[in-house]
Amino acid sequence: MASYAEKVMEELKTRYPYQPEFLQAVQEVLQSLTPILDKNKKYENYRIIERIVEPERTIAFRVEWVDDTGAIQVNRGYRIQFNSAIGPYKGGLRLHPSVNMSILKFLGFEQIFKNSLTGLAIGGAKGGSDFDPKGKSENEVMRFCQTFMNELFRHIGATIDVPAGDIGTGGREIGFLYGQYKKLTKSFEGVLTGKNLLFGGSLARTEATGYGAVYFAESMLKERGESLEGKTCAVSGAGNVATYCCQKLHQIGAKPVTVTDSKGMIYDKNGINVDVLKQVKEVERASLTRYKELVPSAEYTAVADYPEGLHKVWTVPCYAAFPCATQNEVNARDAEKLLANGCQCVTEGANMPSTLDAVHAFVKAKIAFGPAKAANAGGVATSQLEMEQNAGMQSWSFEEVDNKLHGIMQNIFTNASETAKEFGQAGNLVVGANIAGFKKVADAMIAQGVC
Ligand code: NDP
Repeated sequence: MASYAEKVMEELKTRYPYQPEFLQAVQEVLQSLTPILDKNKKYENYRIIERIVEPERTIAFRVEWVDDTGAIQVNRGYRIQFNSAIGPYKGGLRLHPSVNMSILKFLGFEQIFKNSLTGLAIGGAKGGSDFDPKGKSENEVMRFCQTFMNELFRHIGATIDVPAGDIGTGGREIGFLYGQYKKLTKSFEGVLTGKNLLFGGSLARTEATGYGAVYFAESMLKERGESLEGKTCAVSGAGNVATYCCQKLHQIGAKPVTVTDSKGMIYDKNGINVDVLKQVKEVERASLTRYKELVPSAEYTAVADYPEGLHKVWTVPCYAAFPCATQNEVNARDAEKLLANGCQCVTEGANMPSTLDAVHAFVKAKIAFGPAKAANAGGVATSQLEMEQNAGMQSWSFEEVDNKLHGIMQNIFTNASETAKEFGQAGNLVVGANIAGFKKVADAMIAQGVC
């Protein structure tokens, strides 16, 4: 790490000792920036690193709502507007009990570089709450979303900040949030993405992140003269990203054999049945034990029975792995196991699913490694396509959006790959993606002055 970046990192550790996920995300980026920081002293002169690691604005608020028994519930709501140098803030809303400032700052920080990499004019943000939609009634989720929006609406807008979904925030939650925004502001505008098709949603947005990750993996492998066709793949997660990752893998002739949720893992040697997965997770909102009931030949392992220190999903021999659940779900030992079993390709569908040690192991082994901010950018890119359709009062066909998504993922790969070569690290997409994403934002910050 360059001494300038090292110095800022040390200061950050002292200032935010209780934000480990945020520090991890910053460290990963700063480690990659050495070549560009060494070559261009202007970034140090303009104190770009000190500025880029601090959010432009942090909004924290109380969300109080009444549950079905009449009891008052209190949650914490947040929106981190991290960087608007290249466009209005954009990033998802996470609803999960683990949500706190550290998690949202890591996600918002990542989002800056991811959004920049898409080539589109979007800044970085993230938000959410420690509210858990799981186990809540439809009415409780609606009341929470309405109260959450009662504060959030003051801070967002179609050209200011456009939130989207993330863990725990799917089409249902976006619908409730949008309804309340409309009620409070009397305006029908594209202020949230991931909307229902009935009121401004885009075809292929639901599929975009999972499909995009597979397109990205194909681009990486094509350059190596390889492909996913006929290959066995391990996928983690069982939500939006994992489901559509599995669907696209089937479509291109690969075989996803695993999915996971917070309670356990399914191994289906015949290939994950995506219709059953959707029935279990999207319709019944049940645990994966239900998949086992519907597909008795599949094997189910509960988290309690995972081998010590390992995530069982990464012990399944596979050609390609797609971590699509959550942060830090691939540790150094998991990485070792994957590599020992011959895994040739890891594509991050989730945000920061690999620990720093795991990333180093994949890069060192020179396998095809697609870091999250490049590989899962298909979701936010398609959100931007939704905003374009809303602004032009248009509805594009599924094929049109999917083709654009495919093109964007190819461009992101080319950009990251060419940048890695330019800085003498051919094949290292971690370095390529971080430098390419950083350069555009940093140069825009310099051009806009200190304000
Ligand atoms: P969903 O809520 O649809 O699904 C998340 C899945 O991961 C669920 O199966 C959930 O299990 C599991 N999971 C969540 N937290 C944990 C945990 N702590 N331990 C184990 N399993 C867990 O979310 P998405 O699919 O939308 O998001 C998945 C990842 O992809 C996240 O990292 C998100 O930030 C990232 N991402 C999502 C985008 C999108 O467009 N949706 C865009 C870019 C990135 P359970 O069912 O038991 O809750």
